[in-house]
Amino acid sequence: MSTESRSNFLKTQIQADLDGQVMGQLVTRFPPEPNGYLHLGHAKSITVNFELAKQFGGRCHLRFDDTNPEKESQVFIEAIQDDVRWLGYEWHGEVRFASSYFQQLYDWALHLIDHGLAYVCDLSAEEAREYRGSLTEAGRDSPYRTRSPEENRQLFTGMRAGEFPEGSRVLRAKIDMASPNINLRDPILYRIRNAHHHQTGGDWPIYPTYDYAHGQEDAIEGVTHSICTLEFEDHRPLYDWFIEHLPVPSRPRQIEFARLNTSYTVTSKRKLKQLVDSGAVSGWDDPRMPTLAGLRRRGYPPAAIRHFCEEVGTSRSDSVVDVAMLESSVRNHLNESAPRAMAVLNPLALTLTNLSQPETLSVANHPGNEAMGTREVPLTPELLIDADDFREEANKKYKRLVIGKRVRLRGAYVIEAERCDHNASGEVVRVYARIIEGTLGEDPADGIKAKGVIHWVSASSGVPAEVRRYDRLFSDPNPGKSDDVLAVLNPDSLRVIDTAVLEPSLAHAQPEQVFQFEREGYFIADRFDHSGGKPVFNMTIGLRDTWSAVNA
Ligand code: ATP
Ligand code: MG
Repeated sequence: MSTESRSNFLKTQIQADLDGQVMGQLVTRFPPEPNGYLHLGHAKSITVNFELAKQFGGRCHLRFDDTNPEKESQVFIEAIQDDVRWLGYEWHGEVRFASSYFQQLYDWALHLIDHGLAYVCDLSAEEAREYRGSLTEAGRDSPYRTRSPEENRQLFTGMRAGEFPEGSRVLRAKIDMASPNINLRDPILYRIRNAHHHQTGGDWPIYPTYDYAHGQEDAIEGVTHSICTLEFEDHRPLYDWFIEHLPVPSRPRQIEFARLNTSYTVTSKRKLKQLVDSGAVSGWDDPRMPTLAGLRRRGYPPAAIRHFCEEVGTSRSDSVVDVAMLESSVRNHLNESAPRAMAVLNPLALTLTNLSQPETLSVANHPGNEAMGTREVPLTPELLIDADDFREEANKKYKRLVIGKRVRLRGAYVIEAERCDHNASGEVVRVYARIIEGTLGEDPADGIKAKGVIHWVSASSGVPAEVRRYDRLFSDPNPGKSDDVLAVLNPDSLRVIDTAVLEPSLAHAQPEQVFQFEREGYFIADRFDHSGGKPVFNMTIGLRDTWSAVNA
């Protein structure tokens, strides 16, 4: 299937719905549970819901599905809003909460009771499991299924009043214990839970289940299309059953699509939490995490993530997308948007033997975009180059600095190496080179061209910095498959480089500014740790996909 048709399956269905019915405006929603940070999979759901609303001139809500208070918190509520905005979307109206519909949901539960469609059941969890049956075996009716509406009403209002201990009874829908779809075997609507809720405090000793709450929340908000992932396909008959049997103000439609799975990535909140709790990463926003907060801190542009989600498309069959596709989108965006600068990560001293006076060079910030302007870079007699860019002797394939050979200093002159100093262990500690006169923006007059270009910084005016080099967090392409994500960590996913020296202009970088460090990759000034006095840069991504070459 082409990308075009794959990405259009939701669009086509929605268009048909809008054409066929007097539905008015398309309304979608993004419904996170505030029990963790958003990850790349959520970015997919966000882009699907917000982009569809945009394309059809509709609106998209942000609704917290906060029906499990024990695992939820205000911290996540705020982080999720930040992340949605960072990704580039603004929801319609106020942020919404499932918990603000608790009274309505409760009233509708009484409605089901009064119509003989729900009952209070006293089976223990274990008994209920036995009665439920299996995929091959029908369930059996609970002995409490025949309670009268009056008795059910009395017991349910008692549950609401906090008269019964946790786990002692539940409210169930009365549907069909023999249904081949287990979700229809008298599913639970309410549980007793003596939990403090971040929004409703101690108001409610009972909480609705996701299955009971979700469709009605959609209906209350006038959501027309409740777009979710494939694991909810078998829940759709139940979703529709509630909508059919309750006096809801609108009739939303659930449509499922395949989750986004990406190689080398874990997108289960439980597993991400394990990484955080174990200290394997520094937090939910560690730049190696596939959380939006982590990707942000890593320097992934939101537009690149949106573009990736768009490119992946939506389909109804599960697959794993190569993470290299996301990385390529990141590179493409940064190649356009990131100003160039020079930083030497592993410095080697280089003395220019024939430069008597420092010079100030004007260097373009972007080779393909004049509008990005120029900056001043000081050229001084003492420079630093990367140790990998010099060899005493080398064959023709080595296009960097070699004694007796020429190389161009990026944005500056062609130089020729003359000699070098060694330390007691024989390592090169300083290179001496001379500038070939008249080579600023020109080839040497003698016709002996430079073989390559290397980056450099002034030793006297360069700025020391901490640089964090990141690699993939996992060494296994399918880390989610492993029960223990800690067992498949890449031991070299973070290397802190404390020898880096930046060109002086980078001392003025603002947190979250991304640069291409020439010949090294893309780097972002850390959102939290960077300051002009102590620059800290995180590596966003290398210039080329060295990973697949190395691991092929
Ligand atoms: P997890 O499995 O990590 O707990 P979740 O799906 O339970 O995630 P929610 O907060 O309930 O997390 O998710 C909010 C929305 O994001 C849901 O509609 C869900 O279907 C969607 N979503 C979550 N993960 C993905 C994914 N990998 N691809 C597409 N959509 C996703
Ligand atoms: Mg969920």
